[in-house]
Amino acid sequence: MTTDSWINETLYAEWGQRFLVKRELARVQSAFQDIVIFESVSHGRVMVLDGVIQITERDEFVYQEMLTHVPLLAHGAADNVLIIGAGDGGVLRRVLQHRGVKRAVMVEIDGEVVRLAKQFLPEIGGDAWNDPRGEVIVGDGIDYVKRAPDAAFDAIIVDSTDPIGVGEVLFTDDFYANCARILTTRGLVVNQCGVPFMQAGELRETSARRAKFFPHVTAYVAAVPTYVGGFMTLGWAAKDTSLTLASASEIRTRAQSAGILGTTRYWTPEIHVGAFNLPPYIAQQLPTLASGV
Ligand code: SAM
Repeated sequence: MTTDSWINETLYAEWGQRFLVKRELARVQSAFQDIVIFESVSHGRVMVLDGVIQITERDEFVYQEMLTHVPLLAHGAADNVLIIGAGDGGVLRRVLQHRGVKRAVMVEIDGEVVRLAKQFLPEIGGDAWNDPRGEVIVGDGIDYVKRAPDAAFDAIIVDSTDPIGVGEVLFTDDFYANCARILTTRGLVVNQCGVPFMQAGELRETSARRAKFFPHVTAYVAAVPTYVGGFMTLGWAAKDTSLTLASASEIRTRAQSAGILGTTRYWTPEIHVGAFNLPPYIAQQLPTLASGV
């Protein structure tokens, strides 16, 4: 039974998307944010935090596959992976799809997001919540990286909200300096950097900050239908400048042995390599020297 009520995203004051609601499933004001989960007519179940669309069942594969498979296959031997945010469980599931991953630690600040995602979006995290290689910690990502030992992780995946409110600390010098410290010599960190057509400053400022701590700073793109405004950028900061140079056939071989090939709906070896070819309106947001693609 469809209601006649709409949920409007409030990310941009002058422009936005809306969803016709079939059924509201949860509405919780947590200690950190306003959480709404509803069944939509068009995109399956949807999670909204503080009025901003976080995930829909229909298009989550685009973002989650690109945020996870690109850094792990570019690295090629990532045993230990740190995930910050990602309370819906989608990144954890994709990371644990990689046969070679020995440990995945996920640090999410809001336990209510995890609880509601398990209850109302069970497909997103799937069995990953019970995988013995996974560890889910409810805590602030900045505190975790400050306390973690040197060179503890091969890759850090930051799937956070935008740099406002609780997510702001994850876009600071302090956060990136600690990320560099806790990564191994070929380590890298990737994070959501917004939709540059509407949020160019997010990519520009974040990249300038990371260029202070990482020799290779760039970005790659994915077309996520419900992150409106064109390409979504995923920020890239690596200690090894050669990680983006692997050919599509090399990436295909790695995906085969990782158990990823043939399991994806957006990511392919060619999409992986091509995603680093940025249109000028996006490339110009990157620090010139450090970009070095
Ligand atoms: N893919 C979505 C996007 O790009 O907008 C993000 C999805 S995920 C649900 C975002 C998660 O980051 C939220 O659950 C939020 O609670 C978490 N988060 C925000 N700030 C955090 C912090 N400082 N430490 C850990 N998790 C944080």
